[in-house]
Amino acid sequence: MSNNKQFITGTTKLLGVIGHPVEHSLSPIMHNAAIASLGLDYVYVPFPIEPQNLQAAIQGFAAVGVVGFNVTIPHKQAILPLLSVEPIAQTVGAVNTVIRKHGQWIGTNTDVEGFLYPLQIHHQDWSQKVAVILGNGGAARAVVAGCTQLGFAEIYVVGRDMQKLKQFHRSWDNSPLAVNLQVRTWDSLPKLIPQANLLVNTTPIGMYPQVEVSPLSAEEMAHLPLGAIAYDLIYTPKPTKFLQQAQQVGVIAIDGLEMLIQQGAVALKTWLQQQVPVDVMRQALLLKLGGA
Ligand code: NAP
Repeated sequence: MSNNKQFITGTTKLLGVIGHPVEHSLSPIMHNAAIASLGLDYVYVPFPIEPQNLQAAIQGFAAVGVVGFNVTIPHKQAILPLLSVEPIAQTVGAVNTVIRKHGQWIGTNTDVEGFLYPLQIHHQDWSQKVAVILGNGGAARAVVAGCTQLGFAEIYVVGRDMQKLKQFHRSWDNSPLAVNLQVRTWDSLPKLIPQANLLVNTTPIGMYPQVEVSPLSAEEMAHLPLGAIAYDLIYTPKPTKFLQQAQQVGVIAIDGLEMLIQQGAVALKTWLQQQVPVDVMRQALLLKLGGA
């Protein structure tokens, strides 16, 4: 799909991703694969934008007629005041997808839908269940919103810094979405793990190249309840040490690749206003990650 550039014409429309750094983003691979498969005159380009250039970049995008773009670190929160923000992105407190509509930039968040997608096949009544989320960064916000949508009885966010945790908790004060949210430090995990029907790793612990580390030991994970799900937002390596341990102790393991694909598919559908070939996007990523 890297040959996609040869199809650029005088009428090619622009999509892309802004971030800093953005060189390692897998989004161009999956979006350009889908665009090529649909035979559309679009191209999806990575834009390395430094924080101080964010506003200028967005104005420039409007001037050159960019149709829409994804947003990644460090702009997901910083971009909020520069856009008209949809309720889901307002709730999460972060934007990952932007579309131009009626001369305005509209910001939304497709990470929540992406996170929820692989949980669908494990559909159940979550209203008596407990979710434990490791990490309190940007991705944890989408996970909290997703777990709240599923109706979990209790949602625990576990972090290493109580000040940051309190700030995280306070940031949901005005949101009806996080009524069952509690924050805890890592030392509470021995108490929480035996109750955790869903355990989500939103920290980068175990991400390539640190493939030998895991946020928890196999001994700790052995205390997860029967039928528990361990969900790692990391997609490389595939599986992570955390998910290998989950498999060893007999709980369901979900990696972050499907979330990545589905958040991308929802974004592309929004920009193109048509169905998109999710299988093509998945294949392109698996090929890139060496798992096809
Ligand atoms: P982030 O905003 O930087 O948050 C990372 C969180 O992990 C922070 O709460 C941080 O704690 C915690 N953390 C980092 N290192 C830690 C350590 N050694 N011990 C304990 N806690 C640690 O990053 P993010 O955007 O949320 O992304 C987090 C991960 O999710 C990344 O691996 C990213 O690739 C993945 N992700 C995947 C998808 C997907 O589609 N699959 C989407 C988004 C993100 P402090 O707050 O105390 O620093």
